[in-house]
Amino acid sequence: MRELVDVTMQDVLDRVRITVLKQRGNELNCLCPYCDEPHRREGHLYINVVKDTFICHKCGRQGNALQLYALLTGQDTKEAYKELAQEISSGLRRLHHIQYKLQYTQSQQKYIAPPETRDKVYREFLKLLELSEEHKADLLRRGLSEVAVKVKGYKTLFVTPKEKRLEICRTLQEKGLSLEGIPGFFKHKSTWEWDFIPYRGYAIPVRNLNGQIVGLQVRMDEPAFSKYRWFSSSSSKDVGTPAEANLHVTGSMEDKIVYVTEGALKVDVASYLSRQTFIGLPGVSSCHRQLVETLKQFQPKLVILAFDMDYEEKVEVRLNVEKVKKLLIENGFKFKQITWDKEFKGIDDYLLHLKQTQKRSA
Ligand SMILES: [Zn+2]
Repeated sequence: MRELVDVTMQDVLDRVRITVLKQRGNELNCLCPYCDEPHRREGHLYINVVKDTFICHKCGRQGNALQLYALLTGQDTKEAYKELAQEISSGLRRLHHIQYKLQYTQSQQKYIAPPETRDKVYREFLKLLELSEEHKADLLRRGLSEVAVKVKGYKTLFVTPKEKRLEICRTLQEKGLSLEGIPGFFKHKSTWEWDFIPYRGYAIPVRNLNGQIVGLQVRMDEPAFSKYRWFSSSSSKDVGTPAEANLHVTGSMEDKIVYVTEGALKVDVASYLSRQTFIGLPGVSSCHRQLVETLKQFQPKLVILAFDMDYEEKVEVRLNVEKVKKLLIENGFKFKQITWDKEFKGIDDYLLHLKQTQKRSA
């Protein structure tokens, strides 16, 4: 999708109703329409009107102006862009005319299938998909082996034509699996047939501490806003299930040392290269509580924080790393933060570099 019209946060704020509680510089503190109760004095949603970004520190929703608009109006970003671009370019500026379809979204959110069910569906689903050569090449380039790529279960999500997707959904149902409450799947309102969103990218299975696949992240082929998205179906046109943010846990779990960083694919690669146990936050600012709960179950001897090396330069990242540390202290976990050669941003990049240099010197 080409962005010909720039969608700014102001464009979005002009159109949707969001309760702004405080303003500090370019940052607005607002009630999060998803997770904050009304009448609170302090909200969890932060909107930066200069950077055109938003983030909720409670539910983890974040993104740019267009994504906020899409979320609140229950559309995908393509539809949202079309609508907004038309209005903006025609000079229309109707204030707050969008009553966002939250009630709808909330009623949708009531039901998300439990982890056991999601695990069964996603496992069977992934078996029915293929991995394209390009996607496989991308995964190998990151340092994974052919076997690891197979075991982890990455698959290409862009399945066309539609008939092929409907067939996959039918096969799942014939296996006795219900697609109700499974993020990424939805029912066409016209025919009541199940379908799934054919994201242009590949699925990264996200597992909890018990190894259950609780969600799929998508590595997008052409990242328009972010490289990663959740396999999610919350379009208002049809009946689907929005994804919830989840931690990704991977590794042998044998010695009680656990590394924590950001990104599901990153921890897959890092864990594979180092044979260590890793927990990946979906974003540096989300799932902090889930992290504490998971660590309580896991009972590690030591937590090693291995956040990207640019954490010092990015204020947002640094503040969130501090938050994580504070939570670890409050909950009595022993931890340390590690750093490495700044030339390598992620721990996965660094480990891959080590492996390659070892190979060369061997
Ligand atoms: Zn929220």
